[in-house]
Amino acid sequence: MPVHQLRQFKLINAYLVEEDDGLTLVDTMLPRSAAPILKAAGGREIKRIALTHAHGDHIGSLDALAEQLPGVEVLISGRDARLLAKDMTLDPGEEKGKLRGGYAGAKTRPTRTVEAGDRIGSLEVVAAPGHTPGHVAFLDTRDRTLYCGDAYSTLGGVATTAKPNPRFPLPALASWHRPTALESARALRALDPARLAPGHGKVVESPASAMDAAIARGAS
Ligand SMILES: [Zn+2]
Repeated sequence: MPVHQLRQFKLINAYLVEEDDGLTLVDTMLPRSAAPILKAAGGREIKRIALTHAHGDHIGSLDALAEQLPGVEVLISGRDARLLAKDMTLDPGEEKGKLRGGYAGAKTRPTRTVEAGDRIGSLEVVAAPGHTPGHVAFLDTRDRTLYCGDAYSTLGGVATTAKPNPRFPLPALASWHRPTALESARALRALDPARLAPGHGKVVESPASAMDAAIARGAS
């Protein structure tokens, strides 16, 4: 599967994933991305929008897209669905961290919430909490591309959100609970992805050693 990355301000990514019946859009970038995303789809139908988490730079164009794509499926974890609806209450045990980063909210509600192990077309939902309480990643079961959202960023080098990368500290600074993010980074590494397709930064091929180094830095 060729990875089709869309970028906004060279900083924020979304992805179009090919399926037999159309496209799955992973994340929606900031507002005003709907037109470029639809243009990139090139007339192919976007059947599903899969969201890694509820931060504003990933859900920003959700409402505009949902309006222009009647019948589109909208998928997010049950936990981050509450953040998408601007319900900022914490569950028992979540007080160990603090909700950080921009939760812009959206009026669009998910058509289905997803949990680890669920399938979205060829993508398998993988739990990756820490950056947000309900953050998920999507593993393409055909070629092991890992759409990792903000569990890793590759801008300024591959990094976890367990510790601020001096060259791009934002994902770590916007994270709910860094020790949990580190555990998730390890769990994603254990999947042995063929490539890492993050929310911020370029797609990295054969990322194993870079992920190991990022985990080691995050744990230090
Ligand atoms: Zn984020």
